[in-house]
Amino acid sequence: NEHRTGLRVGAEIDLAALRDNVRALRGRAAGAELMAVVKADAYGHGMLPCARAARRAGAAWLGTATPEEALALRVAGDRGRVLCWLWTPGGPWREAIEADVDVSASARWALEEITAAARACGRTARVHLKVDTGLGRNGCQPADWADLVAAARAAEAEGTVRVVGLWSHFACADEPGHPSIAAQLDAFREALAVAERAGLAPEVRHMANSPATLTLPESHFDLVRTGVSVYGLSPSPEVGVPADFGLRPVMTLRARLAVVKRVPAGHGVSYGHHYTTPGETTLALVPAGYADGVPRHASGTGPVLVAGKWRTVAGRVAMDQFVVDLGGDAAEAGDEAVLFGPGDAGEPTVEDWARATGTIGYEIVTRIGARVPRTHL
Ligand code: PLP
Repeated sequence: NEHRTGLRVGAEIDLAALRDNVRALRGRAAGAELMAVVKADAYGHGMLPCARAARRAGAAWLGTATPEEALALRVAGDRGRVLCWLWTPGGPWREAIEADVDVSASARWALEEITAAARACGRTARVHLKVDTGLGRNGCQPADWADLVAAARAAEAEGTVRVVGLWSHFACADEPGHPSIAAQLDAFREALAVAERAGLAPEVRHMANSPATLTLPESHFDLVRTGVSVYGLSPSPEVGVPADFGLRPVMTLRARLAVVKRVPAGHGVSYGHHYTTPGETTLALVPAGYADGVPRHASGTGPVLVAGKWRTVAGRVAMDQFVVDLGGDAAEAGDEAVLFGPGDAGEPTVEDWARATGTIGYEIVTRIGARVPRTHL
């Protein structure tokens, strides 16, 4: 366990917790298959070890945004179902098809590129057609859906495509009861009916992200796409806290104090002197900064457990370090600072950091920097 024995800052990744989370989510979505979303380096937790752990716990599917992420799973030896959904014209369709990666299409241009790539390599591409039921982001507009479906049927007849999935994504599932949720479900059912009337017979229909998986059983269909909850985090305070769903946070971020020193009253602290010591006090230097993913917005607000108590970032977070004021408490260089973890040893949680910095837990963990070593336990 390297970071306990000298590393500056390190993220500990509890893969047993991740496996338990996957099992808890599978129980909640019994009747549907589970996709562990491992894009963005598994939300900062390290894609390959997390993907392996999720498979072990029964994730039939892995989900990625970029084709590069999906192909990296294959290079690492993953042989299960993988869906990759964020494509731009000229993307590596052929590599994905040859690697048995399922691809997503939201528009005719994508279907045309998929068909051409499948023809070129003599394979049948497995395609998920995406409809925009109200998110207003990726996905085919309902007005163009029948046309996309007809083009997909033609490609199926030609043997270049098999439509294995029909899918969509929620805008406001993290606000349970939001009126757009029911409207999107209705629009999805309508799009499914259009596709099925046209002769498509997908293996999986899917719409639910973590908040929908946790709060809305009628959204589960055949497959749920869970990301943040796999990592033991709640999608939003409105949905609840992780423990409400039997989830346990997977990442703990620890650092070792680099300097501890006494300073007099009236001492300015860090760039801009936004904090001044109210009296003679002990300052401790935490060697983690915004290059490590500690948000600069945590200046004056971010919580950290040092010497048995929560401290607040004193003054500005710098690129590599920040300071906390220990008041009269004792500590020494090398002592541990815990920025966040599951919370059961008294440390702050990812949700505490999100609240303190005006963002969401997703961003806190995803932005933990590449130079922070991850230790997978
Ligand atoms: N499905 C899609 C298309 C996504 O982009 C994401 C992530 O944003 C997810 C599922 C997983 O969402 P969550 O992390 O809320 O479970």
